[in-house]
Amino acid sequence: MGNSGKSVIIIGAGLAGLSAGIYGQMNAYNTTIFEMHNIPGGYCTSWKRKGYTFDGAMDWLNGVNLNEKDSTVWKELGYLDGRKVAYSDEMLCVRDREGNTWSFHSDPEKLENELMKLTSYEEDKEIIRKLCKDISKLIKAPVFDFIKPEAVFGPIDQFKMLFKFLPYMKMLIYYNQVMVRDYAKQFKDPRLSEIISYMYFDPIIPQSQFTPVYQLAGMNKKLLGFPEGGGGGLAAFLEKRYKEMGGKLYCKARVKKILVEDNKAVGVLLQDGTKHYADVVISACDGRAAIYDMLDGKFVNEHVDDVYNKGPVYPSLLRVYLGVNRDFKNEPHSVAYLLNEPLDIPGLYQNHRKDSIMIRHYSNLDPSFAPPGKSVINSVFFADYDYWKELYKDKERYKKEKEKVASIVTKYLEQLYPGIKDQIEVVDVATPVTYERYTGNYRGSIKAWIEDTTDVPDKLKKVGMTLPGLNNFYMIGQWMSYGGMIRVATSGRYVIQAICEKDRKKFVTHTA
Ligand SMILES: Cc1cc2nc3c(=O)[nH]c(=O)nc-3n(C[C@H](O)[C@H](O)[C@H](O)COP(=O)(O)OP(=O)(O)OC[C@H]3O[C@@H](n4cnc5c(N)ncnc54)[C@H](O)[C@@H]3O)c2cc1C
Repeated sequence: MGNSGKSVIIIGAGLAGLSAGIYGQMNAYNTTIFEMHNIPGGYCTSWKRKGYTFDGAMDWLNGVNLNEKDSTVWKELGYLDGRKVAYSDEMLCVRDREGNTWSFHSDPEKLENELMKLTSYEEDKEIIRKLCKDISKLIKAPVFDFIKPEAVFGPIDQFKMLFKFLPYMKMLIYYNQVMVRDYAKQFKDPRLSEIISYMYFDPIIPQSQFTPVYQLAGMNKKLLGFPEGGGGGLAAFLEKRYKEMGGKLYCKARVKKILVEDNKAVGVLLQDGTKHYADVVISACDGRAAIYDMLDGKFVNEHVDDVYNKGPVYPSLLRVYLGVNRDFKNEPHSVAYLLNEPLDIPGLYQNHRKDSIMIRHYSNLDPSFAPPGKSVINSVFFADYDYWKELYKDKERYKKEKEKVASIVTKYLEQLYPGIKDQIEVVDVATPVTYERYTGNYRGSIKAWIEDTTDVPDKLKKVGMTLPGLNNFYMIGQWMSYGGMIRVATSGRYVIQAICEKDRKKFVTHTA
């Protein structure tokens, strides 16, 4: 492990960086990770408050069914060995204004029965039938293995993909080209239309209809689940594994510049003024910061500029975490409540009205997140980065606005669960500035790019994993491979595979 003599510096100990570190050690590179925060994990994290665990970023993890091909990366990393995984047969519920609950079941038959109850229009029924038939079809489709980041797909990969998914291509293209909220508009029944607009959590979300369709099929096949420990558990596991393999991890070590000599990346300059040298440098942090700040924008071309200047950035969030002295174990894990009066939440994405409130009962997915008899509740909103960034200039106003958001959410929860106000023991609010400050991600984006319904995938393919004119340098993580834990972990695997190939070494996925 780590004894080939060749050294690799990795910037950032998020999932991508940790994964690259582990695969690097497996392949006998001497790897060192520099992480600016005081703990590794990046977005994949959790924190404790008075006995409650608040999870930063894991709603569902892909690749948890060890019998399926998409679990390769977790299997090789050893993460799921002996770990309990919570599954659900519904993606989320919508509670309408009359108090009825509608579930997005992962069983297409149940889903069809549920949605049919919401309409008497034959045209709507036709669309529901098609939707459920397509989900059934997708359940039988081969699993996308995530083993190679789409941004580095060449013509052969494209061809293989086309061949594998040919029978499903029409459906995939159809759902990929329409946003959930636009898909919902075709239903004649207004209540059905509104409920369908929540099919992927929130109509505000810039997500194609393909995502909920794929996710429902995935949940049906148990490809998605919530492993015990959530995001913090995953990061802690990878950190331990990395260190056990001899990897070196330095926290509170912010990289300021990437050192370049003769058009080769040769090391990094840290904020504290120290210089560290290596044969290869991998950026596993914010892409823009690496390209335009750490490298001063010297290694770009029109494709790099195009994606980073024009690529639509996925929005950030406003999240209210509550630790509550009350048992909510009988509540659904995720429920969108439709409101009679819009919530007056400040600083929402593109000034959206808030006609609903999304509540997640995290401790129903992992009971260890709350002390016995108590619960963790989370409410989440897509947020306006500029609003919160401006406010952050005045820390007192920023703090007050966060308190205001928490009190609006609490007021609403009190209507829903009378008595809860006095049972709240801990409150924590994360804004886009929180996401940006703790991980360095541009505008606090939670998933890098809005990839579906846009030309980002084409643009990213023209950039790939390297920069023009710069040798011994690679980029991984969500800005290169799109967001999502499985994708970024796979990008860490893939970069080491590419380095092995360049060094004419056999890529291995186990320890010696
Ligand atoms: C709220 C939320 C919910 C999500 N839900 C899900 C989900 O349910 N399922 C799923 O699969 N994905 C989900 N995601 C997406 C997923 O968490 C991310 O795409 C993924 O964790 C990103 O990993 P990364 O390693 O690419 O980047 P990051 O996690 O951003 O890691 C980058 C690391 O680099 C460090 N860094 C930055 N700059 C420097 C510097 N100058 N010097 C040193 N270190 C630096 C940062 O501190 C950070 O640790 C969610 C994300 C969020 C925020």
